[in-house]
Formats: sequence, C-alpha cells, structure tokens
Amino acid sequence: MNGSFRVGSLFGIPFYVNASWFIVLALVTFSYGTELGANFPQLGVTASFALGFVAALLLFSSVIAHELGHSFVAMSQGIEVKSISLFLFGGLASFDRESKTPGQAFWVAIAGPLVSLGLFGILRTLLLGGGTLTPLTAVISLLASINLILALFNLIPGLPLDGGNVLKAIVWKITGDPYKGVVFAGRVGQIFGWLAIGTGLLPILLGYGPQWWNILIGSFLLQNAGRAAQSAQIERTLSSRTAADAITPHSPIVRSDLTLREFANQHVIGNTREWKRFLVVDETGKMIGAIAADDTKTIATSDWVKTTVAELTQPLTLETIAASASLLDALKMMERIHQNELPVADETGAIIGLFEKNTAIEILRSEREARPSETPETSDIIANNESSQ
Ligand SMILES: [Zn+2]
Repeated sequence: MNGSFRVGSLFGIPFYVNASWFIVLALVTFSYGTELGANFPQLGVTASFALGFVAALLLFSSVIAHELGHSFVAMSQGIEVKSISLFLFGGLASFDRESKTPGQAFWVAIAGPLVSLGLFGILRTLLLGGGTLTPLTAVISLLASINLILALFNLIPGLPLDGGNVLKAIVWKITGDPYKGVVFAGRVGQIFGWLAIGTGLLPILLGYGPQWWNILIGSFLLQNAGRAAQSAQIERTLSSRTAADAITPHSPIVRSDLTLREFANQHVIGNTREWKRFLVVDETGKMIGAIAADDTKTIATSDWVKTTVAELTQPLTLETIAASASLLDALKMMERIHQNELPVADETGAIIGLFEKNTAIEILRSEREARPSETPETSDIIANNESSQ
C-alpha cells in the first residue's frame, strides 16, 4: 500500500502502518480525550488526553487482534501471511495465496470477527459487577463497543469485508466454483458500497450536510468490490488456458545439428520477428543452450554450410514451464524469477516453444473486448494474485 512503512513484526509477520492511520489515531485521541475530560473533570486536561491516547492505541490493538485471528487460521492452512497493515479504514492481512477449499476459506474469513466478538464478550464480563463509572470502566466500555462494531461491520456480506469472504466461501461450496463465489460476493459488496454512498448523500436532500464518513467507506467498498470481481475474472481466464495454448508462433527454437545456412534460411530470413537469441535444442528437443543471431556474423557466409549451430551455442540454463501448466502459474513463475518469457516443455522435457508475458496480456485484452461490461486492468494481473482479509 502506498504511504505505508514497516514498524516491526508480529509473530514473524511484517507489520506496516499507513500514514493515513495517524490521522485516525489523532482524531480518536482528541475526541475520546475531550469526552473523558468532560465526564471526569477531576482528571485534568493532560490525563484526559493521555487516557484518550491509550484508548486509541487499545482500539488499534483490537484491530490487530482481529487481523491476527485471520492470520493464525491462514497459517494453520500452510498459507504465508505476507503482512498486516493498519490504515484509514482499519486493518488488512495479506496472504500469499487463497485457501484451497471453501471450508478453509470460510474459517479464515470468520476468524477475525470471532476474535472481535470474543474480545467484546471478555470486556463486557469485566464490566459486570462494577458499580460506579470510572475512567477505567469508561475505556473498557468503549473498547467493548469498538470490538462489537468491528465484528458486526466486517460481517456485512459483501467483498472486500469478511462477510463477503464468508459469502464467497458459501457460493463456492454450493457451485463448486471459487470464481462464481468472488463475482457474487463482489457484486453484493458493490451494492453495499452504493448503499453507504446513498446514506451519505441522503441528508443533503433533507437540507443537512452530507455524511462524509459514509461516502468515504462506500467509495472504498465500491472500489475494492469491483476490483475483487475483476481480478477473479482475470484469474479465471488465465487458469482456463495452458502454456501450450499461448506459445509464440515461430518461436526462436533451433536444433543444434542444423548448419548455419539452414538456420538462416529456416529461422532468420523471412521471420516476422527479429529474434536476437535462439534457444538451441538437441535431437530429442532438450535445451542445451542458446545462440545469438549476431554470432553467425563471426563466420564467413561461405563457411555456413559446414558449420553447425552447435559450434556457436553458448551454455544457458533457463527454468521451463510445463505445457500443461496454466497461464496463471506461468505468470507467477515469471514474477518469481523476474523474466518476461519462458520456454515451454512437453512431458518428455522437449522444448516446444516460447511463452511470452505479452501474449497473456493480449489474451486478456481480447477477452475484455469480447465482454465490454468487464474492464480488467492487465497491470493488476500479478498484484491481484494475492488475497487479503
Ligand atoms: Zn477481518
């Protein structure tokens, strides 16, 4: 997230705070400090605001506990938690992948609200039997309410909220299709986003000022719900095609036993693309290195008929992708090894062509043109391959 910086680790999970969070910290400290000062004049100004600050920190500890709830369940499923962040609207835990089954996804989603409900229960129990109202009980009471609100707000059944992830898991379970779950819960999230914006604007019709917080939350929901549905669409497209489906025509693959003359005639002259480098394979199709197109110039043209590609081959080892692997897996591999192209190998290990990142982007673009109502952002392909709660 832009404007975030790391402040340490929580149970080995990198912990980030967004600059926007300090605005909320200041607002909560100020508003609660003022309230405490008014209710308990004996505290004095300094102690009121100090207590307000402590209450604000405890409030955000509640948010962190909620995110740790999601994170611990995810970790128990072998999912890596990449980060926990605090920002304007609360907290966010990012995972390196999604749960494998709808049941597992359900538990990751519900764990956060369950932690918040549990904290609400514990804090309310602490207040039982306490007769007089003191600054301490006032802070505990505030925290209890905050945890209840955290649980209930997050259970609204639309993405990107936890309730949306619960709904996604349910639709996934019923239809057997995780994408249908995301698209459905994303649409419901958009409806809640519009509702929030509507309730924010409604007071204007009645002659009052707008409810800015509702409008802000609504815009946040709308933006993220739409993005969830779009990235599901992208993932679906990329998962439904294999690397073999997306091989570049006339890929720069050449056999080592060809003479330079044959290499030039068959692969270089008349090729629609000017390849700088060709992968060299042996007679079984296995990759043994690469030849640079320019290196042929070091040999006199008259000698091309008696020089083989093998003689100019430089050793090169590249990771390959299986022909049957999905484009999604291929793109993830590219991201991991920082390459924009991958040799595609069949089940015998023979190289059958080259898969280029641009081909995947082209496929997504043509899908989008075939379906104008959806507008997936191709730049988000990788960014959206992580999930968050
Ligand atoms: Zn949550």
